[in-house]
Amino acid sequence: MMGFEFEFEREFCVVIFAILGASFGSFLNVVAHRSIEGRPWWGRERSICETCKHELGFWELIPILSWLCLRGRCKNCGARISVRYLLVELITGIAFASIIFRHGLSFETLLACVGICGIMINSLTDIETGEIFDAYTLSFVILGLLLRIYWGFDAILDGFFGALFGFGIFALIIILSRGGMGWGDATFMSGMGALLGWKLAILAFYIGIMFGGICVLILLLIGKIHWGKKESVPLVPFLSVGCYVAFLYGDVTSSLLFSFTRSACSKNTNEIISGNTAIQIARSCKNLLMNVMIADKECDVISNCEC
Ligand SMILES: [Zn+2]
Repeated sequence: MMGFEFEFEREFCVVIFAILGASFGSFLNVVAHRSIEGRPWWGRERSICETCKHELGFWELIPILSWLCLRGRCKNCGARISVRYLLVELITGIAFASIIFRHGLSFETLLACVGICGIMINSLTDIETGEIFDAYTLSFVILGLLLRIYWGFDAILDGFFGALFGFGIFALIIILSRGGMGWGDATFMSGMGALLGWKLAILAFYIGIMFGGICVLILLLIGKIHWGKKESVPLVPFLSVGCYVAFLYGDVTSSLLFSFTRSACSKNTNEIISGNTAIQIARSCKNLLMNVMIADKECDVISNCEC
């Protein structure tokens, strides 16, 4: 990883990546919208107001700022512009900025930013129509494996097993539940698995499913969805949260989880037999804390040693 020599370098890169992210968000909005309508997103077709067909000029296409300055209305006819455009640009901007803040100018950052584009495009189509486009999931499998060439054969293999896990776990769920989930979720997770590698793919899946489960429970409790009725809740946005956490903090989180599992499974049978599991848990927590401190120290060392 390449650290930042000066604090202003980090701040400068964070700002640049926030702008870059917001611009990508704006572009992905267009790609998702046109894909759903079955129109090509490439080529020379200009963006227009959906109501009056007025062609948008340069000042109406600046991510975040245009929406805010125009207060979410078309300059020509005053028709409302969906707040979705603003939110997607904001979320992508913040996601890009947080990734470079965490990983610095590194190949991890590039890989994670590619992943965030995959997260955004697939979440958008899933939320709007419940549809996942194979072209936008499988291309991330290929991209993930290609980018991993940088780290060598082991990393490519890691990505391959990540993709296999992502697809396999959903294939299993679909077969066991006889179609309880869609194949789109499987291809999405295989794309993210190729970018994340197998360990982080498991972590992302776990966080995504837990987060989705909690949200569905809340929706059931407040009566937005109903028990027993076939109401589909898009899963990709929840999996995306898991993937984002894995891209951002996966290195620390997975080492924590694996150390937790290791200490929880330690062979000190006396303590387990005597029912003294509290000591085990306390030890695991101490290990977790140590790991966080070590990880933080490593970050410091990495950013200092470049001077
Ligand atoms: Zn208009």
